Amino acid sequence: MQLEATELTADELALQREVREFLDKRLEPGTYELGLGMTGATDPDFSRDLGARGWLGMALSSTYGGHDRTAVERLIVVEELLARGAPVSYHWIADRQSGPSIQKWGTEEQRQKYLPGIASGELSFAIGMSEPDSGSDLASLRTKAEPTEGGWVINGTKIWTTGALTATHILALFRTSEHKHEGLTQFIVDRNSPGLTISPIPFIDGSREFCELSFENVFIPDSERLGDIGTGWAQNTGELVLERGGVDRWMSAVTILEHWAADPAIRDNPLALADLGSLAAKEWAFHGLSLSIARMVDEGKSPVTEAALVKEMATRYEQDCVEAVLRHWDRAPDLTSDDPHEALLARALLVSPSWSIRGGTNEILRTIISKGLASA
Ligand SMILES: Cc1cc2nc3c(=O)[nH]c(=O)nc-3n(C[C@H](O)[C@H](O)[C@H](O)COP(=O)(O)OP(=O)(O)OC[C@H]3O[C@@H](n4cnc5c(N)ncnc54)[C@H](O)[C@@H]3O)c2cc1C
Repeated sequence: MQLEATELTADELALQREVREFLDKRLEPGTYELGLGMTGATDPDFSRDLGARGWLGMALSSTYGGHDRTAVERLIVVEELLARGAPVSYHWIADRQSGPSIQKWGTEEQRQKYLPGIASGELSFAIGMSEPDSGSDLASLRTKAEPTEGGWVINGTKIWTTGALTATHILALFRTSEHKHEGLTQFIVDRNSPGLTISPIPFIDGSREFCELSFENVFIPDSERLGDIGTGWAQNTGELVLERGGVDRWMSAVTILEHWAADPAIRDNPLALADLGSLAAKEWAFHGLSLSIARMVDEGKSPVTEAALVKEMATRYEQDCVEAVLRHWDRAPDLTSDDPHEALLARALLVSPSWSIRGGTNEILRTIISKGLASA
């Protein structure tokens, strides 16, 4: 375990100020739909505006439309976005993990084809990993990619694919041989591929982000295979560091917490103040942990155990935030309320149990942490 204390430099603080100034104007309160962290609303125009500012694909190479910036600089931008419940869903997955994966494992042709569109906010990616019988034990997945002339034929089902309805592409993991881990390969799937049916699964709050993907003889050219045949598991594991250690894992409830903290009524309530103090201290600690992980990524390290540790603690913290605010709320929050903050709290009450499931459950993360610590 190598998490080290670190602070933002003067240049990094200047970037933070620049982002804040931009968002003050671009996201005036009341002009956009408030979101719960990374599941903010889908707004391709906003994503393109961020792309035009150079705030998407920040760590991608400028050769491919990126900006040669660091993981820490990206963290600064996303922290400001999530703090405002910004509409980030359209670009979120592409910016966080599909872009870096394609840069790392992709062919020259794939980099040129996809990275500029990811950095400009034109392209949107979803993650096609889970299947009806393969979630925690992901390597048991069965959706097959079988070789055919010029490419592969895919048959099977993916499930819980967030954002697939609006995504332009899905970065998916398929079985290319019977070996459990070495039999998995990643592919970039065009959402308009003939034979691919994308069906929304209504979520408990009424949203339709979740999808089931049915592949019936879907042809994928070999040029859309990401990496070598059989290296999909290792690539996927690398991607999970980007998926697990970031600020998105502790910021789902931050707009709720900050709105509540600004309520003058809690100043006269010692129990509420005690809860607020405890949560605020933890928030600061999680900020430091995510920053430390981003510095490790910038040093070329792959902090798998550290990212799992942060996610396990941070998602419990997010849920604690919702519980604390609800404890001091004088009524059951109404999902249809005209007050956007009350409606958001009602949504959080419904969906927060999923925060410690998505991206790997806490039980699985604890196994990764204990194995990582044992071998350290
Ligand atoms: C909001 C949300 C968004 C998601 N988005 C995506 C997405 O975009 N793409 C995608 O591919 N997937 C996505 N998922 C799926 C997610 O990754 C899986 O739900 C998760 O990995 C758990 O898999 P499962 O649902 O099959 O549960 P299971 O694996 O069946 O687990 C059920 C329970 O058993 C426990 N368990 C399982 N195995 C063990 C073990 N070995 N030791 C101890 N306990 C164990 C688990 O912790 C859990 O509590 C999303 C899920 C959610 C909730």
